[in-house]
Formats: sequence, structure tokens, C-alpha cells
Amino acid sequence: MPQQVVIIGGGIIGCSVAWFLRHEGFTGEVVVIERDPSYQQSSTTLSAASIRVQFGSPVNVALSRFGADFLRNLSRILGREADVGYVERGYLILSPPPAVAEADRLLDIQRAQGCMVERFEPAALAARFPWLAVEDVGVGTFGLREEGWFDAWSLLAAMRAAAIDKDVRFCRAEADGLRVAGGRIVNVRLADGTELEPDWVVCAAGAHSGRLMASLGVDLPVVPKKRCIYHFKAPLDNTDVPMVFDTSGAWLRPEGAGFICGISPDSSCDPDAYGDFEPDMSLFEERVWPALAARIPSLEQLRLLHAWAGHYDMNMFDHNAVLGAHPEIENLMFACGFSGHGVMHAPGAGRAVAEMIVHGGHRTIDISPLAFDRVAQGRPYIESTIY
Ligand SMILES: Cc1cc2nc3c(=O)[nH]c(=O)nc-3n(C[C@H](O)[C@H](O)[C@H](O)COP(=O)(O)OP(=O)(O)OC[C@H]3O[C@@H](n4cnc5c(N)ncnc54)[C@H](O)[C@@H]3O)c2cc1C
Repeated sequence: MPQQVVIIGGGIIGCSVAWFLRHEGFTGEVVVIERDPSYQQSSTTLSAASIRVQFGSPVNVALSRFGADFLRNLSRILGREADVGYVERGYLILSPPPAVAEADRLLDIQRAQGCMVERFEPAALAARFPWLAVEDVGVGTFGLREEGWFDAWSLLAAMRAAAIDKDVRFCRAEADGLRVAGGRIVNVRLADGTELEPDWVVCAAGAHSGRLMASLGVDLPVVPKKRCIYHFKAPLDNTDVPMVFDTSGAWLRPEGAGFICGISPDSSCDPDAYGDFEPDMSLFEERVWPALAARIPSLEQLRLLHAWAGHYDMNMFDHNAVLGAHPEIENLMFACGFSGHGVMHAPGAGRAVAEMIVHGGHRTIDISPLAFDRVAQGRPYIESTIY
């Protein structure tokens, strides 16, 4: 059994790996290196904190189902009172007529894994969600369970506190140098000059994982991409509104008495966003609002309350997480590149990585499709359902 695991990054992924190491019986030292314990610029705290099982890759469906069960039973699992305000109200994903066959293919994958996702023809959609305009919709798929939203900050705080309960040490510091010798990381240097010589290093540095790995000479295409969230009020009762993904790519969901919404920018205006946390208001004016008002006519009257921007931890190779050991640096473990679905996958990913360190292989979810090998060998594992 290794004696010390150093986790670089104390966001939801780092906290989850740390907690699950203890859950899996790791008795050595667990050190989480986090440069900003206020988490002001962490993806976790700036996210939309939503969870869906409607993915196109079986491993992502499995990670989401694990996450939903974790959220439902959080206090019992963590062994401490934790309320993250989990609202299980489904994603409604709308597809245009040409995409109906693809939506049905995905539905088959999800149902084969036990997901309860309902299929709505346009007329049935209009009856079930009377505030929705459905003229140009081909099909709507709606998750009946294991989908919804929660408070990411509360989840992070709960997992961090539960990890501390189990003697995980959080260290406020920046990891700024990793040294390899003999096919192993032999040294992690912190900005204050401290040097660590861990048995395992877990890269959980979120959107900064690519830069961190570059210091080792490892080419990991994980970079920050700015994504904005707009919070608004509107003359629409939100109590029966699920998370809605429109055919335009715009999304919205209830938040308090109002809603939050967003859209991914076109790839042609989506630069790496190091240091840029300025919300893009023109994106809201020009794309999000018109799309949502066309889909939900009462949103023509909305009043914007505020907006913020965070960073997707984008894996530019195939928009999927990188999980598991490096094939050549034998004590380097990846837990990064979640590309916009890392909060929902944190429990499953944390467990899988902990299992690999403690037991030498996965026991709960087979994460081998997400191994680093695919990146190194140019074999993308494509996730079709990304936003
Ligand atoms: C607008 C937006 C909406 C999103 N919506 C959702 C959603 O609905 N559902 C979902 O599942 N996901 C969503 N995501 C994605 C999700 O937030 C991320 O995938 C997830 O938070 C990744 O967690 P993390 O712990 O890896 O990253 P982070 O939370 O960013 O944590 C990484 C930590 O590493 C630290 N760090 C980095 N480098 C170093 C270093 N060298 N030394 C020390 N510390 C370091 C950082 O300070 C940071 O706190 C969204 C993201 C954004 C931006």
C-alpha cells in the first residue's frame, strides 16, 4: 500500500478522490494541494451544478447514475449531515426533426443501462409543458429520475469537510513543479519552496491541468474555455419547469424564484480563457435570449438579474474526462478534462480513481474508455451529447 497520495487541486474532483481514498481503506497520508481555498475561480463553484443521465457514452451514463445515487443518499454516505438542495426534476432535451433518429439511438443506450427517460412527440410535449413552443421540435426526451440540479458549493463544502473528518490534509499552496526520474514523479515542488515526495500524484487541477502537465512534458489537451451563466426573472411559474436544452443549444433551468441560462459560444470565438472571467453580455442579447423567447414566449418579458463566467475544463481532444494512470509515468493519475460535466461525475470519478490507487484497478465503474492512452494514441472516445 502506498504511503502518501498528493492530489493537486482541491475542487470537487480532488475532494472526491480524497474522500474515496479513505472510503476504500487507504490508511496513508492524503494531502490535497489547493492554491485558492476560497474557490472563487474554481469551475465547481461557478458551475450550473446540474446532473443528467442523458449521455451518449455508456461510461458517462454510469458515472451520472452513480452521482445521482450519491446525491440522494449524501448524508448517509458521508456520515455527516449534508444538504445540497438536490432537486430531481429532469432534463428536457429538445431535438429538431432531422435529429430524431439520433435522439432515439441515444435513448436506446440510456434505457439499456436502466435510465428512465421518456420520449415525447411534439403534441405530447405541448400537453405536458404548455408554456413550450413546439412547432419546430422533432422529439423531446425527458429524464424521469436521476436528473436535476443542486448546490455545487454545498457539495464541495460537504465533501471537503467529510474528507477532513477522515484525516485528509488540505494544504493552501500552488504546485509549480513536478520532477520525473526513472519513470516516476519523484518530487512535487510547491510555490513556497516545500517539496513533497509522494507515492502517487493525482492531477485534479481542473481547467489548469493541461498547463500543470506541460511542466512534466506531458501533452494533455485540457484548457479553460469560458462559459457564462445568466440569472433572470420572468413571468413564468418555474415550479414545473425542468432543465431545458433547446434545439438552438441554449439551456435554462429554475434557480430560486427565477432561472439561470446559458449557451456555448461558436468554436470560432471560443479562445482559451486563462484569467478571463468577464461574462459575455452580447452572447446573452444576441443568442440566448432570442432562442429562449422563441421556445418559451413568456420569456420575452424577462429581467436579467446578474451574470457570471467560469471555465469549462475542456478536453480539446474528445470532450471527455481523462481518468486513470499515465502509461509511462507510473505514479501519475489523471482526474481531469471533464469538459463541462465534472460536478455530476465527481463521485463516480473519485471512487474509480481511488479504487485504482488502492486496489490496482476499478471495481465499481469501468473507466478504461477514459484512459489517457486514447489521447496519446489519437483514438478519441467521442461523447455526442455535450453542451
Ligand atoms: C459555467 C459552467 C457551468 C457548468 N455546469 C456544470 C453542470 O451543470 N454540471 C456539471 O457536472 N458540471 C458543470 N460544469 C463543469 C464543472 O464545473 C467542472 O467539470 C468541475 O467543476 C471540475 O471540477 P475540478 O475539481 O476538476 O475543477 P475545479 O473546481 O476548477 O478545481 C480545480 C482546483 O485546482 C486548483 N489548482 C489548479 N492548479 C493548481 C496548482 N498548480 N496548484 C494548486 N491548486 C491548483 C484550482 O484553484 C481549483 O480550485 C460547469 C462549468 C462551468 C464553468
